[in-house]
Amino acid sequence: MATTESMFVNGKWVASSDGKTFETRNPATGEVLATLPAATTADVDAAVKAARAAFENPAWRAMDPSERGRLLMKAAALIRARLDEIALVESLDNGKTLREAKGDITFAAQTLEYYAGLADKVQGATIPVPGPRMAHTIVEPVGVTAHIVPWNFPFQLAVRGIAPALAAGNTVVAKPASLTSLSLLKLAKAFEDAGLPAGVFNVVTGSGRVVGNHLASHPGVNSVTLTGSCATGIEVLQAAAKNVVPVTLELGGKSPNIVFPDADIDKAVKGAFYGIFLNAGQMCWAGSRLFVHESIHDEFVQKLVKMAEGWKLGAGQDKDTRMGPLVSKEQQDRVLEYVNIGLKEGATLAFGGKKPEDPALQKGFFVQPTIFTNVRNDMRIAKEEIFGPVLAVLKFSTDEEALRLANESEFGLYAGVWTKNLQRAHKFALGLDAGAVAINEYPITFPQVPFTGFKQSGIGSEQGMTAMDFYTRRKAVITNLG
Ligand code: NAD
Repeated sequence: MATTESMFVNGKWVASSDGKTFETRNPATGEVLATLPAATTADVDAAVKAARAAFENPAWRAMDPSERGRLLMKAAALIRARLDEIALVESLDNGKTLREAKGDITFAAQTLEYYAGLADKVQGATIPVPGPRMAHTIVEPVGVTAHIVPWNFPFQLAVRGIAPALAAGNTVVAKPASLTSLSLLKLAKAFEDAGLPAGVFNVVTGSGRVVGNHLASHPGVNSVTLTGSCATGIEVLQAAAKNVVPVTLELGGKSPNIVFPDADIDKAVKGAFYGIFLNAGQMCWAGSRLFVHESIHDEFVQKLVKMAEGWKLGAGQDKDTRMGPLVSKEQQDRVLEYVNIGLKEGATLAFGGKKPEDPALQKGFFVQPTIFTNVRNDMRIAKEEIFGPVLAVLKFSTDEEALRLANESEFGLYAGVWTKNLQRAHKFALGLDAGAVAINEYPITFPQVPFTGFKQSGIGSEQGMTAMDFYTRRKAVITNLG
């Protein structure tokens, strides 16, 4: 049964001011899942105003930071208690398997707990200066922070930025992707039930062009955090530039996963496989360029194909499903178009490349796990982010060649290296032009480990302690004691 949802502004559940709505669909069936408010620019103004008032209100501004931490901890406990409910909504809305959705929500709870613990550890320094003087710094929240969220990990990636922002004492206006807004409303409910003062956390639902753009260019916000595509990143950067506010961008990727003959091959096959087919390949850090040493290439590809043959497609909520649908019809069309491009470019289709034939899946936006071999780095399927279950396999013969090809990309988000030779592994960790390098595991991250896009994969860093720097500003105080 489709639901009718409200958005959360100034502690109240509201419709859009002009009453307009939009629908979100279950990508496994194409059926309407919920109707949501299509926020207007006036609604965004109201949310930013509420966040500003809440920021200046002593109920939040003067709150003991350890109390702030406890509130966030309480929200994290509510998220854990509601894990099944939130994961189900995420799975229905995005298409991902319930197992993956549960992993995402748990990761988000951990992230909130991690930053809750940092709320009372935001501190300045005393600095030695000449003369009868004293200098110290005050670290304070920046104000109202804007968060624009993608559809691939809607809950987890929203919390990734919102948790440090709130822990540092800011107030938040968040905008989910219009394809997947439901779980962010569950986050708002958890914050409301945990007792966050009205206006501290706001969610406005609607399109990127209207709501996202107005939020990013709003003179009332003090920072903008976007996770999304490079094209959106450029637009958001331009929008925020008008107000000279800092921006964190976590953008796309075309990550290399490099397998050497001395690796644990079965482990590497699994890592390479999960690295591209989890979340139906809709992952910024997907290991979409797989470099396999020529001496093990054929055996490795055979093992990948064998896994793909047994990979069950279906609705994310079905227990046996290993891969759900893509998020939308547009995404399905885009991925299938890339399969055509790959074929035209001369790559060999080793597996998949089509919609599944199962009659039960015809209404959903499914694409088979797809493996291309004989790929060259100059092909579009090796250069562009497809954002779907399409793996490009490339051969290499020497370490130097592998490193050169891996770095030959406009992206630099993530990379994998599979070898038992520690010297080689760490040479690659140094040489790879990527914000993270995973050795003998793929993909992997933790809330306490920074997540950074190099090159066109982004600006700034999320996760870990350093993310707190983005959500705070440092004021210097110099006192003359003479
Ligand atoms: P998207 O860029 O289409 O949308 C992201 C968000 O921006 C959505 O909320 C959207 O409504 C909004 N938006 C769109 N146009 C806007 C505009 N002009 N102004 C302001 N907001 C606007 O991205 P997506 O399709 O939701 O997500 C997929 C992309 O995100 C991929 O490129 C992927 O690699 C990237 N991603 C990056 C990371 C990372 O950590 N680096 C993580 C996940 C996804």
